[in-house]
Order: sequence, then C-alpha cells, then structure tokens
Amino acid sequence: MHPPQHFIARLEDKNELNPRYIHYSFELQKPLKMDFLAGQYLSVKVSDQGLRRSYSICSSPDIRHGFEFLIDRQPGGVGCKFFDSLKFGDEIETLGPLGTFVMADDEHEKEVMLVATGSGIAPLRAMILDRLQVHHDKRKITLLWGMRHETELFWELDFQDISQEIDNFEFLPVISQPISNWPLAVGRVTQYLKEANLNEETGYYLCGSAAMITEVKSILQQRGIPNHFIHHEKFY
Ligand SMILES: Cc1cc2nc3c(=O)[nH]c(=O)nc-3n(C[C@H](O)[C@H](O)[C@H](O)COP(=O)(O)OP(=O)(O)OC[C@H]3O[C@@H](n4cnc5c(N)ncnc54)[C@H](O)[C@@H]3O)c2cc1C
Repeated sequence: MHPPQHFIARLEDKNELNPRYIHYSFELQKPLKMDFLAGQYLSVKVSDQGLRRSYSICSSPDIRHGFEFLIDRQPGGVGCKFFDSLKFGDEIETLGPLGTFVMADDEHEKEVMLVATGSGIAPLRAMILDRLQVHHDKRKITLLWGMRHETELFWELDFQDISQEIDNFEFLPVISQPISNWPLAVGRVTQYLKEANLNEETGYYLCGSAAMITEVKSILQQRGIPNHFIHHEKFY
C-alpha cells in the first residue's frame, strides 16, 4: 500500500454517460504522479468549509499522471453539487490513495467474481483494466453488474469488447426493471447469485450499497463461501 498524500488535480475531461452518471478525468498538478492500487479511493474536499466525500478511482493504476472518477448524480448532496459545478481547468484537492478494497494476492482465489450495483462499478472497472489489460491475469474473471433500467447502463460496449478479446472475462449485466424487451438477465444480482453455480475457490469483490452487500454476503455464506474470500466496499 502507498501512504496517503495530498494531491491537486485539474479537470481535463467530463463525459456525461447518461443523465445520471458522469465520467470525470483529472490530470495531477502537484505532485505530478500518484501510485495507487486498483480498487482504492480518494477523499475529495467538496466545500469551502472542508467537507469531504470519498470517490473510487475508476481508471487503471498503470496511468500515474492522472485519475478518473465515475459520479452518480442522484444523491444530490454537497458532493454531487461540487462535481456538477466543476468547469474544465478547475482544480480539486484530494487525499489518498485510501482503502483496502484491492484484489487479494491470494493463490487460493482460483477465480474472481466482481459484483456491483450502480456506481459500485467504479473500483471494479479499475480492477478489470489492471488485471486483464496490464497483468494479463489468466484466471476466470466474471463481472456481474446490476442496474435498475437498461437505459442507465454505460461502459457496456467496452466490457463486451473486453469479453470478446479476452476469453477468461465474462460480462453479465442484470437489469431489475427493464423498460423494453431486455434480452439478457432480468432480476437482481442477489437473485442471480442464489441460482448460480458458485465455485468455493473464488474471490468475491462486492461494491455498492450496504443493503446489497449484506444480502450478497449472506447468500455467499449460506452457499459455503469462506469469509476470507469475500471482500467489499460500501458506498452508502
Ligand atoms: C469508499 C467510498 C467510495 C465511493 N466511491 C464513489 C464513486 O466512485 N462514485 C460515486 O458516485 N459515489 C461514491 N461514493 C459515495 C460518495 O462518497 C458520496 O456519498 C455521494 O457522492 C453522495 O454525496 P453527496 O454529498 O452528494 O450526498 P449526501 O448528502 O452525502 O448524501 C445524500 C444521501 O444519499 C445517500 N447516498 C450516497 N451515495 C448514494 C448512491 N450512490 N446512491 C444512492 N444514495 C446514495 C446517502 O446515504 C445519503 O442518505 C463512495 C463512498 C465511499 C464510502
């Protein structure tokens, strides 16, 4: 783990993926490079009074001169408003890298199952880019991503492309309330996991709401998955 430090970064790009989710790219100004592990987050100063909010880095640790965030606008509090108000060239103050939600260096995790709901995809994207494109990890890596509506999905074409290029990656988007005729899995990630064939020697990485994490953990425990194979990051 790298010790946390203060960083100043400048907004370089902002991509509205859909009305709810925005992808931000920042370029480091001071210091100019950051070392972090895929899955870690930064604490961002979001008000003049010094209020802070945490955001997972969604880019690959291979890129050290900057970082990317995925912001869910829906909570609508001081953090969301801060990001909404940012203009190109604005600088932000961050502290990090923080957190221990990183892929275990565990030879017993023969496979990896990543489970996200909503913006919980952010640190898992960093892990996918890092494990598959940088380290060429040969283990089977499955991404199970739950969203309410198919219209909220983003990055799905990127994940599909990776799954076509890399045999050991599988992408499973699950939609709980499809608006039209959704051709893939319908339901919730919990329902999917209850019915899935689970391998005991798999590392499970869960990211999203406390409710989802509690429910998925309990399903995994009932299915005999040892606790040390279950890792999680709770966003709210
Ligand atoms: C380790 C960590 C990493 C995080 N990474 C990200 C990230 O990559 N992207 C991101 O968008 N957010 C992330 N969050 C959530 C983020 O820190 C803020 O909580 C979020 O942006 C809301 O802040 P706010 O000030 O706008 O709203 P607040 O006023 O703080 O919250 C308003 C309400 O919304 C709830 N809430 C918070 N987040 C969500 C959510 N995603 N969906 C529904 N309700 C929510 C809160 O519990 C609260 O009840 C992360 C949180 C943690 C702890």
